[in-house]
Order: sequence, then C-alpha cells, then structure tokens
Amino acid sequence: MTDAAPGRTVLVTGGNRGIGLAIARSFAQAGDRVVVTTRSGDAPEGLDAVPCEVTDSASVDAAFAAAEALFGSPVEVLVANAGVTRDQLLLRMSDEDFDQVVDTNLAGAFRCARRASKGMIRLKRGRMIFISSVVGLYGSPGQTNYAASKAGLVGMARSISRELGGRNITANVVAPGFIDTDMTAALPQERRAAYLANIPAGRYAAPEGLAAAVRILASHE
Ligand code: NDP
Repeated sequence: MTDAAPGRTVLVTGGNRGIGLAIARSFAQAGDRVVVTTRSGDAPEGLDAVPCEVTDSASVDAAFAAAEALFGSPVEVLVANAGVTRDQLLLRMSDEDFDQVVDTNLAGAFRCARRASKGMIRLKRGRMIFISSVVGLYGSPGQTNYAASKAGLVGMARSISRELGGRNITANVVAPGFIDTDMTAALPQERRAAYLANIPAGRYAAPEGLAAAVRILASHE
C-alpha cells in the first residue's frame, strides 16, 4: 500500500507495547516518522518515544510539543490507542473504577484529539484514528466502564468528522475483537475460553492485522 504523503509525523499513544507498538512499527516500516508515547519514558527498540500521561492535559500538550520538536513538523496522524480495563460487576463497581477507565480511554483520547487538531488545522490535513473495541458495540458483563468509554469514542469521532471534515481532517474508529496482548492475558482462563467460543475464526486476531486497518484509515485512499 502506498500513502500519498509518506514521511508524515505519526503519534501513537501507548505505543510502547501491545497493539500500539504493532501499529507504530507498521507506520515506521512504511516510511513515516513515528513517535510513541509511554508513561515510563522508555522507548521501544528502534522507535522514538515521548513521555505522556493521557489523563493529564499538560502532559498531553508537552508530549505533542516534544514530538513536533523531534521531527520539526506537526503531528499529521494521531492514533489514540492508550487504554485500560478495570472490570467489575455493576453492583460492585466503584466510582473510581468507572472514572479511571473513562478518564483514560475516552477523555484521554479527547485530550489528544484536541491538541492534535491545532497542528492539523495549520497543516490543512490530518488523520485521527481511535482504538475502540468490539465491547463498545456489543457490551460485556463486568465492563460497563470500559464499554461506555469505547462506545463514546464513536460519537466523539463522528462529531470531529462533522466539525473538521471540511478541513481535510478525518476521524475514524477501529473496533477490534480480541487480540493477544497483556490486556487479554490478564483475563481469567474461563473468560478467554468463552470469548474464543464466540469467534467464528476460532482464534484471537494478531496486532499486525489491526495495524494494517489503521494504516488504511490514515492513508489518503
Ligand atoms: P496493553 O495493556 O497491552 O497496553 C495498553 C497501553 O496503554 C500501554 O502502552 C499503556 O502504558 C497505555 N496506557 C494505559 N493507561 C495510560 C495512561 N493513563 N496514559 C498513557 N498511556 C496509558 O493493551 P492493548 O495493547 O491490548 O490495547 C491497546 C488498545 O486497544 C486499548 O485502548 C484497548 O482498549 C484496545 N483493545 C484491545 C483489545 C485486545 O484484545 N487486546 C481488543 C479491543 C480493543 P503503560 O505501558 O505505561 O502501562
């Protein structure tokens, strides 16, 4: 696949591991300038990293400023991937369980999109891709916080499209099914087996397949 404008500045939040890392590597292999955000500040091998805590607007601002300084151009492609789970049945879910997940997955993506839009408006082009989840569309017991945060990304992206689409800035959501990462490794064995039984292909997806879908949405095609 060839993108119309190779060598763009791409920022992937939570790109130090799991799905984010696979996405970041895929863009780098295609010739884009990629920076991942990490909370520890440690860069994965072969990639540039900037520190970022997505629940903190000042930290998001500093991460974008650092990325822009690194490559000398605004972020043209944002992949809002950072996310957490804090599963609990509704009756037992604390305010903190709910707030932390929504603040990271939904408000965190909002903070990044708002900051990214500044540079994209100046550039007169941009691509935002939000990593949602199949759980945001189907729901899942024990995940009211997570499902609400992931469903919220859909309304947010559609609103951004309506606001900025005329400026050549697109916003899209990818809602993957289950993928083998630290997040799904933490699930109890019986939950993993139950999920698997509902997947027609009979297997979890590979992060690289998702990365290809994200790159298509970030392309000019
Ligand atoms: P991982 O748990 O492997 O990685 C999560 C990433 O998010 C890490 O880089 C983590 O940073 C970062 N992160 C978490 N909280 C914050 C925060 N407050 N500020 C900044 N960064 C943060 O998850 P996956 O790779 O599995 O998931 C990536 C995305 O894909 C998530 O949004 C997830 O909801 C979504 N997803 C995953 C699926 C799956 O099956 N795995 C299916 C559908 C969607 P750190 O290393 O510092 O903890």
